[in-house]
Amino acid sequence: MVMIIDDAPANIRLLNACLVEEYAVRFATSGPTGLEIVRSQNPDIVLLDVMMPTMDGYAVCAALKADPETRDIPIIFVTAQGDGGDEEKGLSAGAVDYVTKPFIPAIVKARVRIHIELKRLRDQLRRQSVTDELTGLANRRAFDEALTREWSRGVRSGLPLSLVMIDIDFFKGFNDAHGHLGGDACLRQVAQALQAAVPRRIGDLIARYGGEEFAVLLVDTDGEGARKVAERLRSNVSALAIPHGRSSVADVVTVSLGAAALVPNSGKPPTSLVAVADALLYRAKGAGRNRVMVPSPDDARKER
Ligand code: GH3
Ligand code: MG
Ligand code: MG
Repeated sequence: MVMIIDDAPANIRLLNACLVEEYAVRFATSGPTGLEIVRSQNPDIVLLDVMMPTMDGYAVCAALKADPETRDIPIIFVTAQGDGGDEEKGLSAGAVDYVTKPFIPAIVKARVRIHIELKRLRDQLRRQSVTDELTGLANRRAFDEALTREWSRGVRSGLPLSLVMIDIDFFKGFNDAHGHLGGDACLRQVAQALQAAVPRRIGDLIARYGGEEFAVLLVDTDGEGARKVAERLRSNVSALAIPHGRSSVADVVTVSLGAAALVPNSGKPPTSLVAVADALLYRAKGAGRNRVMVPSPDDARKER
């Protein structure tokens, strides 16, 4: 959708005529109304008049750039033909381009098309950079970012942060028996089962940590909450009932899990939570796999 913000209805009519064949077009005749519509409708691009009463184009641009929700929407300034001053000011305010009056329809169309396409590519790149291609879950990079962010939030709030580390049991054997394509399909199914087991709070994240390992970050969640989620993760995976002929703990695919909770402490790195969860996961493997391990009362004493 293309959003036109211009106080002159004649300009809106002309721009609309250039674009209406290819795009849904919406418009507003003042800055404040335009901002409201942009925030609620999330257009692909904004055509923004420079000269408007009460709130001019620069002020609208600044407001859009200041809001993380609208910051990435490309803005094309609409300027009167002049000495280039408006154009320069618009571009340095964060606009991607400008069109000058009187409009040349082919140029308006071409610039809108180019910037919508670039926005689409940017969005796609950003999505890919945080997504694991095989499973569609968050990837390791997204996990590391979320862990750092939520750890800092926990330092401020004093609320516990939990992490469940998950590893598929005898997955090397599964690959040996079913081939890597079979293994990949299994990873996808396990990812879905894990996703279905997590009641999401804002800030929660389920990620592929690497290989056949997954991580679930649970905000404002204590050890008991993490244990419950982990148990549900475990039972959801075994309920998939994916046959596994090379496992010595079950005849279906299972996972081992370590569930840890810490109140984030500014004196420790975020990775200390990973270290605790990982050690518990390792213990779950040693204790027979297909189980959740939480800290023992002894661990809890040491933690204090
Ligand atoms: P354990 O129960 O102790 O975890 O044994 P395991 O066999 O699961 O552990 P190990 O770490 O020896 O093997 C993990 C296997 O996961 C080896 C590797 O080939 C496989 N793997 C890792 N990433 C992928 C992937 O993307 N696709 C497939 N098909 N296999 C993968
Ligand atoms: Mg592993
Ligand atoms: Mg494994």
